[in-house]
Amino acid sequence: MQNYDLAVIGAGPGGYVSAIYASRLGMKTCLIEKDSVGGTCLNHGCIPTKVMLNCAAAIKSINAFRAYGVEVAGYNFAQEKLFSKREEVVTRLRSGIMSLLAANKVVLIKGAGRIKSQGLIDIAGALVGAKNIIIAAGSSPMDLPGMKFDDARILSSEGILRLKSIPKSIIIVGGGVIGCEFATFYNTVGSKVYIIELMDRLLPTMDRELGKRLEVILKKRGIDIHTSVRVGSMNNSGDMVLSELQDGHSIKSETALICVGRRPNTAGLGLEELGISLDKGRIVVNEFLETGVKGVFAIGDCINGPMLAHAASYEGTVVCDNIAGKKRRVDYNLIPSCIFTEPEIAACGLTEDEAKKLDPDSKAVKFPYMASSKAQVINSADGFIKMVGAKDGRLLGIEIMGHNACDLIGEASLAIAMKANIEDIANAVHAHPTLSEIFGDASHLFLGKPIHTI
Ligand code: NAD
Repeated sequence: MQNYDLAVIGAGPGGYVSAIYASRLGMKTCLIEKDSVGGTCLNHGCIPTKVMLNCAAAIKSINAFRAYGVEVAGYNFAQEKLFSKREEVVTRLRSGIMSLLAANKVVLIKGAGRIKSQGLIDIAGALVGAKNIIIAAGSSPMDLPGMKFDDARILSSEGILRLKSIPKSIIIVGGGVIGCEFATFYNTVGSKVYIIELMDRLLPTMDRELGKRLEVILKKRGIDIHTSVRVGSMNNSGDMVLSELQDGHSIKSETALICVGRRPNTAGLGLEELGISLDKGRIVVNEFLETGVKGVFAIGDCINGPMLAHAASYEGTVVCDNIAGKKRRVDYNLIPSCIFTEPEIAACGLTEDEAKKLDPDSKAVKFPYMASSKAQVINSADGFIKMVGAKDGRLLGIEIMGHNACDLIGEASLAIAMKANIEDIANAVHAHPTLSEIFGDASHLFLGKPIHTI
C-alpha cells in the first residue's frame, strides 16, 4: 500500500490546485479522480461556456462596429466550428493540468475514492494510506420533480453542452448565474429564449439593482422573462417541450434547460460511516475547513461556501497551509463573483443591503459608465460601479455592471484583501483613458472630492 502525506479526492479546480500547492509545500501527494481532470469548471462549466460566450460577443461586435462606419453585410455562423473550438480549448487546458501535476510530482490515481477509515482510502479495492485527506468532490446539476433530465430535450447545464446544434427556441428554468449566461448566448445566436424564475427578479442572490437592471436589458433584446412563477409541468412530446407555468401561461420550445442550483457530490464517499456531518447534503466544516474527523478536510462545492471555481482553489490553499502548520481561516469576503452575461456583472465584498444590516451608517455611491471617457470611446456606456463603504471610509464592497466588469473586479478583490480604505483607492492613479478610472471616480464621489475623469 502506498502512503501519502495528503490524498485529495476530486481533480476539479479545488482538488488539482490543492494537490499542486501541497506538493510544492513538500508533501507527498496523490490526487484521486474517476473522470477527467479539471472537474465541472473545465469539462462542463466555466471554460466551455466562456468559449460560447466569446463567440456571442464576436457576433455582437459585428453590429457594434456599425457606429464606427464599419458595415458587415452578413455573416455565416458555422456552429460545428464553435463546438470544435470549445473542445480544442478544453483539451489543451486539460493537458496543461496533466503537465502541471507531473511537473509537481503529484501522483494521479484513476478511480472513485471512498474513505474506508481515518487515513485510509479505498479505490476500487486498492488501498491508499494518507495522513491527511481533502474531499473536493464537487457538485452536480439539480433537477426538479416532474422535470427529470432526459438527455434529449430536457437538459442540465452539462447536457446542453452535448447538443450539436443551436435550438430554435429554449426555455430556461432558473434565472440565476447559469440561466442568465446561457440566455445571453442563445439570444445572441438567434434562439427564442424564455427564462422562468421563481423569485421576483433575475440573480436573486445578488444586489437587487443588478438583477432588475439585467432583466430590463435582456427583455429589450427579446428574451421573454417570467418572474415570481414556477413551472407546474414540463413534457417532452418527442419533437418539442411543453411547459405549463403555474400562472396559466404555456410555452412550447425545442429544448429546456433546468438550472436551479447544484447538489453536492457527497454520496459514495463513506462519509456517514466515518461520522462526518452533513447539512442539507453539504459537508460541515469549521473556519479552518476541517470536518469533525481529524485529518479530513473538505473544500469546494461539497461544503457550504460559494460554488465557484476560484473559491474552491482558494479553500484548497487554506487547507494545505493549515496542514503545513499555519492557522489560516477562510474568509469569504475575499471571493469575487463574476457573471459573464452581456454586460458582465461582478462583485466583491458586501452588497449595499448587507452592509446596511451590519452598519446602518454605511453608505453606497454609484458612478455611471456613461461618464467614463473609455466607455464612450468603445461605445459601451451602459453600466455602473457601486462602491460601499463604512462611515470611517473603510471599503466594504464593490459591484460593477458593464463592459469588462469581470476583469475590473480584480482591483476590488485586491483592495478588499489589503483592507484598503476608499481614500487609498482615491490616491491610486488610474491610467487615462481606461475603464479602471471608474474606481478613482467612485472613490472621489464617496469622499466628496472633485471627480477628474473626461
Ligand atoms: P443559482 O443559485 O445561481 O440560480 C438558480 C436559480 O433558480 C435561482 O435564481 C432560483 O431562485 C431559481 N429557482 C430555483 N428553483 C426554481 C424553480 N422551481 N423554478 C424557477 N426558478 C427556480 O444556480 P445555478 O445558476 O444553477 O448555478 C449553480 C452554481 O454554479 C451557483 O452557485 C453559481 O454561482 C455557480 N456558477 C457560477 C458561474 C460563474 O461564476 N460565472 C457560472 C456558472 C455557475
